[in-house]
Formats: sequence, structure tokens, C-alpha cells
Amino acid sequence: SLSEKLQSAFKTIRGHGKLSEQNIKEALKEVRMALLEADVNFRVVKDFTERVRKRAIGREVMKSLTPGQQLIKVVNEELTELMGKESSGLSFATTPPTTLLLVGLQGSGKTTTAGKLASMLRKENHKPLMVAADVYRPAAITQLQVLGQQLQIDVYADGAEKDPRKICQKALQQANHEGFDVVLIDTAGRLHIDQELMQELRDLKALTSPQEVLFVADAMTGQDAVTVADQFNKALDVSGVVLTKLDGDARGGAALSIKAVTNRPIKFVGVGEKLDQLERFHPERMASRILGMGDVLSFIEKVEKAIDEEKAQELERKILEQAFTLQDFRDQLQQFRSMGPLDQLLEMIPGADKKALKNLQVDEKEFVRMEAIINSMTPDERLHHKIINSKRKQRIAKGSGTDIRDVNKLLKQFEQARKMMKKMTGGKGKPGFKIPRR
Ligand code: GDP
Ligand code: MG
Repeated sequence: SLSEKLQSAFKTIRGHGKLSEQNIKEALKEVRMALLEADVNFRVVKDFTERVRKRAIGREVMKSLTPGQQLIKVVNEELTELMGKESSGLSFATTPPTTLLLVGLQGSGKTTTAGKLASMLRKENHKPLMVAADVYRPAAITQLQVLGQQLQIDVYADGAEKDPRKICQKALQQANHEGFDVVLIDTAGRLHIDQELMQELRDLKALTSPQEVLFVADAMTGQDAVTVADQFNKALDVSGVVLTKLDGDARGGAALSIKAVTNRPIKFVGVGEKLDQLERFHPERMASRILGMGDVLSFIEKVEKAIDEEKAQELERKILEQAFTLQDFRDQLQQFRSMGPLDQLLEMIPGADKKALKNLQVDEKEFVRMEAIINSMTPDERLHHKIINSKRKQRIAKGSGTDIRDVNKLLKQFEQARKMMKKMTGGKGKPGFKIPRR
């Protein structure tokens, strides 16, 4: 299966110490083969492996992950991306009824999906009406009626009417009169695409202005499903895809290529013949299912969480320790200076006690002196002001063309600024806020 093949691809780099261009290349060769064998569109495979390669090569290697796990992570993310990243649900009309047009080839699962979807919607408190618009096979109408009876969902059908347009018109009238808020139209399919059918569906679309045109595709047909989806989309501008029969030994190709080829999201998947076997499509879950490496993926997730946690703690610790350094002080001075002459700034503060503020004023020369002093410190001194003893002070004074009194003054000003920072972060050195954690 695809999962097994992908897993063996990752085994090829298990022995290596780190991700290199060579071992990525080897593993990706196998990934490529596995995807092609799973009937994924070759262009999609090409783009996919290229994206993975680029991302894997430029990657900062996480200490806690092996190169194999590292690559699995990238492949998983790209698989998810390929299928649409997020799950997209149905859109509903602002004024009911919402109309859903189900289209697709014969046997793809339209009628079954209509029943499954109606049943799902009713559970979400909608009042659905199913419409039998497949007039070419009498059995098709009966099939929908039987489904309706099983599910206790209303069906609009008219065996005597041969024009699906008229059927839809009348069905919508009934929905309006009887307060059905979702109308699911089960249309006819053919074994192959033909223009007569496409025209009929285009007419139905124009007539019913559906919120969704859902293309129903049989996942077992692999790349054919993708080609047909592309053609239906070009003719009808479908809004989403329902992929049926994913429970069978579908090779996964359709799920992987449909979004990339049509740029339309998969919205639901059929996972069995039973009427409750329809699921919302989640790209992320599908990707892990295809990879078949649930345990590895959850391990990777745990490692990532732990790393995030570490970073958050470090940041919090810094704030707790009032890690406001001389370096930060210098940055602040520079910012302050770039705001322009202090006089003008003070003028702009309404109701400011100008006299008091004038006393705080630092003139341009003083700024220059303060900066020069900090610039003469070693990086270590700037980060740990406590180490600045008198010997160091002498050196700093000399280097900045000032004297020891200036250096002491600056250090005092710095201490004051630190105190202010302390106050701003909530007294007693404890910050008034916490770094949010995931
Ligand atoms: P339509 O011609 O497009 O209306 O297709 P139908 O709804 O009649 O379905 C054709 C066949 O596919 C039926 O036998 C269904 O039971 C079967 N089918 C539909 N969806 C699924 C699914 O998700 N899984 C499986 N195993 N069978 C399905
Ligand atoms: Mg049918």
C-alpha cells in the first residue's frame, strides 16, 4: 500500500546522521515512486517532491528528531497542504432554501451521497428535501425514494415528468411552500462525459442557482476521477468534491491530486455503503492516514510542543529576572533621540508639568556621552552590568573620553530605568502578564 511504500522510503535515511542533499534525494526517489504507483497525477508528484526537497534541505535540524522523522514531518505537512490545508464545509444561502447540486459519472455515488448528506444535515437541525432529477433510469427514482423512506427524509419525484428542469423548478416551489431549508438535487450521470449531459447540468445550475455544485467522484478510479473532475469543473465550475469509496482499496491518488488539479476542495468522503458512512474531509487527518505513521507524527508533535514550551519559559525567566540590559538601555536612548528635540516633544504632551519635565531633560550632548560610554563597554558588560567594577569603569571612561563620574552617572540612570521597567511589568519584579503557551 501507499503507506507501506512511504514508510520504507523513510527507512532509507534512518541510518544517516543528518539530512543531506544526497539522502533526501534517495528517500524522495522512493516517495516519488510510491506516489506514482498510487496513481497520483505525475505533475502533482513532481511539484510535490520538489517542494519537499527544497524545504527539507534548507531546514534547521531539530536536535530531538532523527533525519528520518524530520523528513516525515515535511512530507506530512506538504501532503496536508496538497489536499487543501483546512477542511471546508458547505456554504448556506442567506435566505433558504440552500440548493446543492450533486453531479458526477454514473455509479460514482451521487444518489447514495445525497441520502448520506441529507441525513447528516438533518442531524444538524436542517430540514432537507431530496430531488430525483435523474429521469433516464426509472430505477434511479425508486432508489432515491427507498433511501428517503429508510432515512425518513422527504423526496420530490415525478415519474411522469421527463424534463429534469421542470422537476427542479417544482421541487424548489415545494421547498419554499413547505419550509425545507436545504434541497439536494440528485442528477443523472453517464458512463463517460458527454456534451448533452453537460448542457443539461449547466441548465440545472442556471435554473436553481445552487450554493454548491458538488462533484461526486469514485476514489477507486484514481487518476480517471481527477481527469473527470477537471472536465466537470471546466464545464460547471464546481464548488467542491465528494470522494466516495475511500473504504475500498483506493490507492489514494485521487484524494492527493484532485485539489491540486482542479483547485477545488474535497469537502466530504464516503467511507462505506451504509448511510452514516460519510465524513467531513480533514486534509490533516487524511495526510496522516496516507502516511500511516500516526505514532511517529504524534511523537514529532510532542517534541515541537516541548521546544515551544522551552522558549516560552526562557522568555518568562528573562522578564522575571528583569533582564533589561545596558544594551537595551542604549537602544532606548537611540529611540528617544530619533524622536527629535525634547522641547518640541514636551510641548506636545497636553497638561504636562513642563517645569518638572524640563528638569528631566537630557541635552543632545549628554545623549552622545551616554551612548559613547555604553559603546565603550564590552558586550559582556552590556549584558551583565554587575560585573562593572572600578577597574572596568576606568577603562570605559578612558575609552569613551569621559571620566569615572560620568560612567557612574550613567550606571545610576540605567538603574533608574531598570526600576521603571520593573514597575511597568507589575511591581516586585514579577511581570503582570504571562507569555501565552500553546
Ligand atoms: P450514482 O450512480 O452516482 O447515483 O451512484 P450510487 O449512489 O447509486 O452508488 C453506486 C454504488 O456505489 C452503490 O452500490 C453504492 O452503495 C456504492 N457506494 C456509494 N458510496 C460508497 C462509499 O463511500 N463506499 C462504498 N463502499 N460504496 C459506496
Ligand atoms: Mg444515482
